[in-house]
Amino acid sequence: MTRRERVAGQELPIDLMNTVWASGKGADDALSTADGALEWIREILPRLEQRPSSLDHWLPCASPLSVKQTAFDLRRLRDALRRLAADATADERRAGVGSGLPDHQVAVDMLNSAAARGAVSPALVWTGESAPTLVLQGDVPGGVAVTSLLARQAVRLFGSEERRRLRACAAPGCANYYLSGHGRRRWCSQTCGNRARVARFNDKQSSDAAR
Ligand SMILES: [Zn+2]
Repeated sequence: MTRRERVAGQELPIDLMNTVWASGKGADDALSTADGALEWIREILPRLEQRPSSLDHWLPCASPLSVKQTAFDLRRLRDALRRLAADATADERRAGVGSGLPDHQVAVDMLNSAAARGAVSPALVWTGESAPTLVLQGDVPGGVAVTSLLARQAVRLFGSEERRRLRACAAPGCANYYLSGHGRRRWCSQTCGNRARVARFNDKQSSDAAR
């Protein structure tokens, strides 16, 4: 696969796992640059279950250094999550992307320390004109807060029965993970399902022709 296959309707930690994909030249990474990481955060913003208040201040005027650090933190968290997802799904794919971190326990420790970093607490914002809203307040920059929020969601995902719904896409060349709604689905998206069927059909044609 030479382009990124987006999987709709997934939890955000799954979106983070799928920010790296196989390409003609090896692997592509949506978070490889600071700009890419900012764009990705803006993309997921409407889907954050709770919004850290510092994010609104941080996003428009974050220093290049702090965005670069956030991109790095997100990549490390992503690589830890891909290790744990590979272990949870007994993933043996060779999609050219790798399973993130090689060591299971390092991945667990990294996830837990990311989850513990952003000390934020829920607060109510309710002015005369606006509807009441819950925000997360804390003295951490927006980039740290968003990474920590994603890590906490991932802790809940791996630490609960939800983990059993996690799947590695079976389509050739796809490196995505997804949460399966029912037991029989084997592909992260309809596009991957179609590609897998075409590949199977072609394999069958060539093995019939070889007989
Ligand atoms: Zn796929």
